[in-house]
Amino acid sequence: MQTPRAIFDDRNLAAVVLIGARGSGKTTVGRVLADEIGIGFIDLDERALALRGEASVCDVFEHQGESAWRQAEAAALVAALDEPPSVIATGGGVACIDPPRAVLRAAAAKGTIEIIWLRCDGQTLKSRLETDPGDRPSLTGQDPIEEAIEVAASRAQAYESVATHIIDATGPPTATATAIMEWIRR
Ligand code: ADP
Ligand code: MG
Repeated sequence: MQTPRAIFDDRNLAAVVLIGARGSGKTTVGRVLADEIGIGFIDLDERALALRGEASVCDVFEHQGESAWRQAEAAALVAALDEPPSVIATGGGVACIDPPRAVLRAAAAKGTIEIIWLRCDGQTLKSRLETDPGDRPSLTGQDPIEEAIEVAASRAQAYESVATHIIDATGPPTATATAIMEWIRR
């Protein structure tokens, strides 16, 4: 059987982009997947933070506003897609909010990226976020975990519409990464 890396080359894939809600495992699964394929891993949150020169997404929202964050996400995505083939973990809003959404759609239209939605039910997200609340600003001022579950539900349609494939992401990270590799190898 061909290696995932060879499949990547054969299909002229520029990237596998992971989309989905906070806590769906984009960063965790992305690292495992990149390792298995033998390509680089890019976490868009980290890149966008570096562009904004802040230590946390909360700080960017507080000091520069949400629009500055979305612009940084778009710029980081443009740059990441220009690099050698990689697995790109996005932030939860990238596939749903312009301008990063527009960047993703334009790349998808060229047919050289896979966009995988890591689909997760609310209860699974809740238990993960309770263990590790992470660094995310509240968008509405309500309880951050309750908000994250509501935001995840409200974005499901957007994730589905931009995804080239949907993967159940409720199992262990290695199982999710394997399912993605099987899809790439198809
Ligand atoms: P995202 O990047 O999509 O926001 P992360 O990869 O940062 O999600 O994961 C959020 C939290 O959930 C982390 O603490 C991570 O260890 C945990 N986690 C991620 N994927 C799984 C999984 N498949 N099973 C259990 N915990 C997970
Ligand atoms: Mg992440």
